[in-house]
Amino acid sequence: MISAHLIARPAVVVIDPGHGGWDRGGMPGQRLPEKAYTLDIATRLARVLQNDGRVKVVLTRRDDSFVPLMSRVYLANEYAGRNAVFVSIHCNAGLRANAFGVESYYNNSHGYRLAALIHPRVIQALGSIDRRIRHRGYLVLRRNRLPAVLVECGFLTNPTEAARLSDSGTRDRVARAIAAGILAY
Ligand SMILES: [Zn+2]
Repeated sequence: MISAHLIARPAVVVIDPGHGGWDRGGMPGQRLPEKAYTLDIATRLARVLQNDGRVKVVLTRRDDSFVPLMSRVYLANEYAGRNAVFVSIHCNAGLRANAFGVESYYNNSHGYRLAALIHPRVIQALGSIDRRIRHRGYLVLRRNRLPAVLVECGFLTNPTEAARLSDSGTRDRVARAIAAGILAY
């Protein structure tokens, strides 16, 4: 027998656009502000999921404002036990400009399963390479009671990847890839 909760897709998706306000993200002196790219991809992801209509969407920020990490976690944990998932959107930065690729982070086994569905789809959408799914103790993952994933959608410090991410069509494809992974969970 298959119990219903095993086949139900998430009912609530908490989307967390990384950084914001005075926290630009990325590295000191980085030309492209990570916070704007994360908000744009997150907003597109929210729109895709809202248009799909099967899940409730919650954003930890909707504009260029600073939201403390623990506030993001508290918001997510309000949905604990309600078939919710948490996806934090980031873009990577490297000291070496030739570093590129997609990395995803998780902290618990449910997070790993979610990451395994999102990660390969983002690699394909960005036409990038696999920098692996990694176990990390980031606060938004560690203190989160939902299946939680942090996706680094390519490197803004890599000229090729930055050019791709600066194209709205690419950001839309990345958002759709993340949505497809969430809906497959
Ligand atoms: Zn970041």
